[in-house]
Amino acid sequence: MIDIKGITKSFGSLQVLKGIDLHIGKGEVVSIVGPSGAGKTTLLQIIGTLDKPDSGQIIIDGTDVSRLNRKKLSEFRNQRIGFVFQFHQLLPEFTALENIMIPALIGGKSRSEAKKKAEALLDFMGLADRAKHKPNELSGGEKQRVAVARALVNDPAVILADEPSGSLDSKNKEELHQLFFSLRDKLGQTFVIVTHDENLAKITDRTIAMRDGMLETDVNAAADAATAASSSTATTDNDTD
Ligand code: ATP
Repeated sequence: MIDIKGITKSFGSLQVLKGIDLHIGKGEVVSIVGPSGAGKTTLLQIIGTLDKPDSGQIIIDGTDVSRLNRKKLSEFRNQRIGFVFQFHQLLPEFTALENIMIPALIGGKSRSEAKKKAEALLDFMGLADRAKHKPNELSGGEKQRVAVARALVNDPAVILADEPSGSLDSKNKEELHQLFFSLRDKLGQTFVIVTHDENLAKITDRTIAMRDGMLETDVNAAADAATAASSSTATTDNDTD
């Protein structure tokens, strides 16, 4: 579903991603964890085609995204990828229903199709009676569920979430996490979630740990290789003694 090969990325002289290789299967719910500055958001933005790597390849659902021109890439992103951020980023002047409809309209659906889909999603989220509310008339948990509905409106193959429950209290956090799993079970989406929330990481299918621009497994492998190299040097030194 998502194949990442040799991704590197620098901002100025700071190399933030140092060669990431990763495969994420269809329907997997994967969490990416690691200390602040490890490169998690940068990796997610690159998977989401919101940013470009300096080198490497990303194949999403069989499409090599680096080969798409700007217009095709933007269509691909709108149709195939849904985003959920820490702060819902709903447009304040529009109702919950309209916020959900917007990506569908951008994607070329008619107004009536977009409305039907948005209403079905609001219903699924248990928010049918909040359709006409504007974001400032919704609770934090409701806003985040509207944001998830918006991410789903074009039936994307992949949902990318960056600290999706970071602004929620523990009850709403738990509900949002359960929502991700029920969506995966019902609709088969693949979820990649950047999080500092250990409770969420614990329940995902797989946790990918990042450190210093690398996957933890690669950091460990590099450390093992360095240890092996120094011990073999030591052995060689001993041999020459
Ligand atoms: P956090 O858990 O704090 O969100 P993170 O692991 O998601 O951290 P990133 O946001 O990917 O880390 O940032 C990795 C590094 O890249 C940081 O040192 C950050 O300051 C730097 N960085 C990220 N985006 C940019 C940018 N657009 N320009 C310059 N530096 C950036």
